[in-house]
Amino acid sequence: AEKKKIVRKSKRIRKISKFPAESKDIPSSVPYLLIGGGTASFAAFRAIKSADPTAKVLVVDKEGYYPYMRPPLSKEIWFNDDAETTKKLHFKQWNGSERSLFYEPQDFYVDCTKLNTNPNGGVAVARGWTVKKLDVFERKAILEDGYEISYEKCLIATGSSPKNLPLFEEASQDVKDKVTLFRGISDFEELEDIIKSGPKSVAVIGGGFLGSELACALARQSRKTGLNVHQIFPEPGNMGKVLPGYLNLWTTNMVKKEGVNVITNAEVKDVEKVKDQLVLSLNNGSKIVADHIIVAVGASPNTDLARTSDLELDEDYGGFLVNAELMARSNLWSAGDCMCFYDVKLGRRRVEHHDHAVVSGRLAGENMTGAGKPYWHQSMFWSDLGPDVGYEAIGIVDSALPTVGVFAKATDKDTPKAVVEATDESNRAKTEEEAQPVSPASGTPESPKHSEDYGKGIIFYLRDDVVVGIVMWNVFNRMSVARQVLKEETKYADLNEVAKLFNIHEE
Ligand code: FAD
Ligand code: NAD
Ligand code: NAD
Repeated sequence: AEKKKIVRKSKRIRKISKFPAESKDIPSSVPYLLIGGGTASFAAFRAIKSADPTAKVLVVDKEGYYPYMRPPLSKEIWFNDDAETTKKLHFKQWNGSERSLFYEPQDFYVDCTKLNTNPNGGVAVARGWTVKKLDVFERKAILEDGYEISYEKCLIATGSSPKNLPLFEEASQDVKDKVTLFRGISDFEELEDIIKSGPKSVAVIGGGFLGSELACALARQSRKTGLNVHQIFPEPGNMGKVLPGYLNLWTTNMVKKEGVNVITNAEVKDVEKVKDQLVLSLNNGSKIVADHIIVAVGASPNTDLARTSDLELDEDYGGFLVNAELMARSNLWSAGDCMCFYDVKLGRRRVEHHDHAVVSGRLAGENMTGAGKPYWHQSMFWSDLGPDVGYEAIGIVDSALPTVGVFAKATDKDTPKAVVEATDESNRAKTEEEAQPVSPASGTPESPKHSEDYGKGIIFYLRDDVVVGIVMWNVFNRMSVARQVLKEETKYADLNEVAKLFNIHEE
């Protein structure tokens, strides 16, 4: 047991390898410097290369991997049935076809030492390196060892990091060893090892996207092993910050059917290690015993550079403050989770979703090559609670806003799995581009009456009587309709007519 403990501890102090090993092998001067190697950076370098095919782009990323996507890490990858697929960091889409988490194969990238001499330019990634400071006036980035990189144009796409609860931050090391904050590949690998070691129970803390998706994936995947999955959060239902009250309660029943022991309206007040388990005391007086804990209580934008580099943050939303063209300062842009932008349609926002990283990364890349375009094309997002229930959304979807919903009875075709089977595409921002137009329904759409009517539907979110957000609940391939409804600033009074455009009774 002692040996096992040491192994686990040493694993938890993750040593991130650096490639290249020495900073002298990173170019000291580049036309395009992208800080962070996530989805926003990936979208930016694709846009830069398409406007300027021989561009030389240097990405500096501290996580140590080539750019990859995070969405499958809380969903599909847990359903891999052979270890080899997981080892390659591949996942199987809901229709069974295999994909890599990585956007590009390794040989797509240019070696850091060759970037500046390569006639066709290319993209090089300095992995395991952190930008600690920018000198915006001199146009220089400074790494952790003091090495300086001069740039012409720079993008900050540092993403966000999981929040923790003070209770666990202040706990002893042997408690901390049983707590996972989940964000990337190494978190997945570590949690997978733990789940494979055959624990009796895990507790997921948090009822948002990550907590709900992971709890469903773990519960469904562990039906064979009998793992107990508890989920604890303060809201009355899953995704309570997004879905209106009646729908988050319905969703919670669905999550329970997936096998999760959902404990709503509850917070963890105390944690104690008893033998080899953790005992969580909740504010409702009950106690939960778990072998391992996953904390999923939100993310905070990675904005350390603001302090060291005198950059402005948004006071309300956090994140680097940028204008509608995603510009923070001269020659400096920001994209993805880490920034707060001006949406010319919906006002100031900060968004933590995959397609937002794609849309804003692409726009920043276009503007870094001179396009001067405002944020206009709305990003969307999706969430799947396993292969059978999912939703897509656009605009501002905050359960604190007034909502209007129309629903219909769902069929087997109204599932995330069915969409992927029809399109062979798990990334639903991409499915959107291929969707066929739908013709409007006749008759008047119905408002929900009782719970089984929530199988599929459209929920409109209103601000000052104007639609600012839309959730499509188990309704797929309707994003272009939703996009149009937002663009036209549809009023509450017109919603009955507008709902027909989604034609949810037909498929
Ligand atoms: P990130 O992907 O966080 O990338 C930023 C990178 O920058 C990181 O690698 C970080 O280490 C690095 N970095 C930070 N600071 C520095 C520095 N100073 N120097 C160098 N490098 C630095 N969204 C959806 O819409 N749908 C989903 O289904 C979905 N599923 C998700 C599942 C999981 C498990 C997670 C964690 C997120 C999910 N999201 C989903 C959210 C989505 O993945 C994020 O919004 C997206 O990754 C943001 O991209 P980004 O490029 O802004 O930041
Ligand atoms: P989130 O903001 O979606 O949810 C935060 C949740 O934390 C709240 O719903 C609440 O239940 C919980 N919480 C807050 N304080 C708590 C407390 N004291 N005790 C217990 N629970 C508490 O964030 P997340 O679910 O942690 O996701 C992390 C990040 O990953 C976010 O940026 C999210 O957008 C992103 N993500 C997105 C998707 C998707 O779009 N489908 C999927 C996974 C992750
Ligand atoms: P849009 O929101 O559909 O597209 C905006 C940009 O996003 C386009 O340049 C397009 O290339 C790109 N894009 C297309 N598909 C995308 C996808 N799936 N993901 C991310 N980006 C994608 O808007 P539109 O159709 O270009 O413009 C509609 C109308 O609005 C036009 O008449 C246009 O002139 C006008 N417009 C107004 C403003 C404004 O600030 N008010 C800004 C731009 C355009």
